[in-house]
Amino acid sequence: MPIFTPGRRWQPAYRPFKKESLGSALMEDFEYIIKGPLFGCRMCGNCLLQETAFICPMECPKGLRNGPCGGSTPEYCYVDKTRPCIWYKIYERSFKMGREEKLLEVLPPLDWEKVGTETWKDILTTVKKNGTGKVVKSIVLDQGEKRYKTWDMIFRAVRQPDWWQGDDKYHAPAYTEPVSELERRLKAGEFVVACEIAPPLSMATKKLIENIELVKPFVTAINFTDNASATPRMTSWACSRIAVEKGAEPVMQIAARDRTRASLQAEILGATALGVRNVLCVTGDSPVLAPQPRGRMDINDMDAIQMIWILRRMRDEGHYLDGRELKFPPKFFLGAAASPFASDPKFQAIREHKKVNAGAQFFQTNLVYDPERMEIWLNELAKRNIFDKVYIMIGITPLKSAKMTHYMTEVPGVFVPKSIIDRMDAADAKGGAQEEGVKIALEIIEKIRGKQGINGLHIMPVGWEDIIPRIVTEAGLAKNLTPA
Ligand code: SF4
Repeated sequence: MPIFTPGRRWQPAYRPFKKESLGSALMEDFEYIIKGPLFGCRMCGNCLLQETAFICPMECPKGLRNGPCGGSTPEYCYVDKTRPCIWYKIYERSFKMGREEKLLEVLPPLDWEKVGTETWKDILTTVKKNGTGKVVKSIVLDQGEKRYKTWDMIFRAVRQPDWWQGDDKYHAPAYTEPVSELERRLKAGEFVVACEIAPPLSMATKKLIENIELVKPFVTAINFTDNASATPRMTSWACSRIAVEKGAEPVMQIAARDRTRASLQAEILGATALGVRNVLCVTGDSPVLAPQPRGRMDINDMDAIQMIWILRRMRDEGHYLDGRELKFPPKFFLGAAASPFASDPKFQAIREHKKVNAGAQFFQTNLVYDPERMEIWLNELAKRNIFDKVYIMIGITPLKSAKMTHYMTEVPGVFVPKSIIDRMDAADAKGGAQEEGVKIALEIIEKIRGKQGINGLHIMPVGWEDIIPRIVTEAGLAKNLTPA
């Protein structure tokens, strides 16, 4: 077990893709012999230890390099319950060491050319480039900020290659006129309603179109999920295109799990050419939730924050990740998922802050059944001064039965208070579960409206699309709506 990473389990190191000289191979083994036992290093070749409280994040089964997923818990990783969530450990230690603000720097995806190779050589090269004597003198003799700057200059060169140049700053969108109706209404200060329609399980689009027509007059935008639970359905961009044809405004969800950096950029260009103007980036459920046989469960090419960073720069700076210029950059309103009840609210707030810095303009949250407890998360966001930089839409799913209520308690990142479980159990026993579920949803909406930082609702009906018109109408939210 690594000395500085309590609770971690041992995992094999990455090996270089290409054949190495004997000298390099020996140097790599030497680095691994030292850093493996100390930090749980897996030789990713793109060392981030300075930013992650000296715990290697590469144990995370999703390969996340920018913080925990929505399934993170203090007890275990939801992908593999035999190990702790390594990102929970990183956040916990960062707070203990007072290094939590370091977690805001947007870190790059792996450069697979460097995976398995040594980092120390890169560090020595940077030191030499900046004058070995000068660097050593500064580290030994300087104090405080000056010493830190020298130290950071060395390690930043390793973790932030030229093609990425991530930072911990907020990057405002480089445009002013709204690019979508969703953005226009949020900017205008309306309390906006969006909803989700699950893409069809076959090529038949009749039900999808009926659902689009049903909800269109009651919502501003319709989300189409991207293989939720890692289970294939009709693709999100195809559903989004159908929505555009039917005069509705889609939010195209896009999951890092099923993308490479090349396919992400290609798909966004295609989707925006087809009329999609809202994009929501998620890391995506692990294939561990999918039916057998499962795809890879041990690495993603990118995480949601890296997707946001890449897409914002495509749009605002007009270039691909590889630096090629984009003559006609795509236009879109960029969103992300937020999770008020995953792990610790102050940990989550850092993760949401980082998404905003990377380029997220709106959040749609995981399900909220406890508006009072959600306040803790909102307070953490308020401390980070991000309410004026991002619009927050709260996730609501009306409960249909006691069975569904109990199932929800198992969903990563969802918290259902006992009072709601008891109410649904009692109502189900009397045959009135659906009515009770609607009542609870309306009560939650009433409580969250008007709270500081909340700009709208995101209704996720889980196949109960028929209930959307009633919820929106009875919540008094239909009055300003004209079909989007
Ligand atoms: S997959 Fe999620 S829960 Fe598991 S270690 Fe990674 S961030 Fe934590």
